Amino acid sequence: MADYRQMWKDLGMDLELHDQLCEVLPTAFGDVYLSQEDRPESMDYYNFVVSEIHGVRPAELIESQKKGGKVFGTFCVFVPDEIIFAADAIATGLCGGSQFWVPGGEKVLPTNTCPLIKASVGARLEKTCPFFRIADMFVGETTCDGKKKAWEILAEDVPIHVMDMPQMKRQKDLDAWTNEISIFKNKVEEFTGNEVTSEKLSQAIKLINDKRRALKRLYEFRKNENLPISGKDVLLISQIAFYDDPTRFASMTNKLCDELDERVKNNISVFTAGTKRIMLTGTPMAIPNWKLHHIVETSGGAVVVEETCTGTRYFENLVDETKTIIDEQIEALTDRYMKINCACFTPNTGRIDDILRLAKEYNVDGIIDVNLKFCNLYDTEGYFVERALKEAGIPVLGIETDYTDQDAEQLRTRVGAFIEMLSNK
Ligand code: SF4
Ligand code: SF4
Repeated sequence: MADYRQMWKDLGMDLELHDQLCEVLPTAFGDVYLSQEDRPESMDYYNFVVSEIHGVRPAELIESQKKGGKVFGTFCVFVPDEIIFAADAIATGLCGGSQFWVPGGEKVLPTNTCPLIKASVGARLEKTCPFFRIADMFVGETTCDGKKKAWEILAEDVPIHVMDMPQMKRQKDLDAWTNEISIFKNKVEEFTGNEVTSEKLSQAIKLINDKRRALKRLYEFRKNENLPISGKDVLLISQIAFYDDPTRFASMTNKLCDELDERVKNNISVFTAGTKRIMLTGTPMAIPNWKLHHIVETSGGAVVVEETCTGTRYFENLVDETKTIIDEQIEALTDRYMKINCACFTPNTGRIDDILRLAKEYNVDGIIDVNLKFCNLYDTEGYFVERALKEAGIPVLGIETDYTDQDAEQLRTRVGAFIEMLSNK
């Protein structure tokens, strides 16, 4: 990595502690990613992004701040990035996916909080992530109780705007979300000093839709019998989508897809014939959480689709691009975002429909229902997910895990047995 120490120092980061993180990440990435054979050449871009993860993109964000631009840090796929980009600001994902940040979060949060929340709070308070230092404003949401209370703690340290998420999807809830998006728009306008005009919002809707289209195109390749790219690589790309420049991301991902087109024509697969096709469903996998994908893909399986917020929930459904009046554009945003089926809603039967549909579309052999430890919402919903899958005759394995490696061997045994069972079916 190039020398970014001065930049990190200027951001007020704890350099000594940060050095420890910089030491472990390349090894982990090498073990999980660079050890794969026959990766598409276009993965070089994403390798580069990871190798410079705390350098290149943070430097770009700082450059835009020097020109008066604002950066908003977000934690949930319900926050409409379109509004932020329409105000000539930048949105960047902030969800923490490393155990490295968890102890810092535990200093202020109960231990029985999900690792994603603990890592996100720890990354800010321990000053070891440049993205968490750069963001001028954090945007939270009232999706789960753990997050709701964590925002109050973070608000003592950084400006934060919290979006009030509906818990149901009746018309009055959709109206409330439309109203929340309008309030958010006003907040963003006030904070940036830039008006969100209908023209700007049209451009931003197209910008974010283009990113979604690129991800959708990428996922289509995973429906093939011959898989031209591993699940691990697609996960990495999805994780990078949360913080890369959206135009560049879409362009690089389309370039990769061009290469994958060639691979499909030439019947190239990165897995041997008969590898079991696995879907993951459940809680998000923020970078650098590659644990379960790595275990599956080194145990005789291939992850072909993720029904998660770092998977299909992030890109499925586009925002209607035909609206030209601001109120109608905001309604179009509501329509698209309220199609996301997160376990924070009651009831959330749409998620079961999604899982069953995706299982068919991606021709999966089995499903792993993964829950981040202490996520009550997804854990409880697992009851319905696993029952529906059993009724549909789709084998399912329920797993609860965290960011540590302590359960890696046990998981490997369970996943290995599950895949073996699929092979004997
Ligand atoms: S799981 Fe729910 S709360 Fe978490 S990022 Fe996804 S939509 Fe947001
Ligand atoms: S994984 Fe569950 S507990 Fe953790 S932030 Fe998401 S919804 Fe909340």
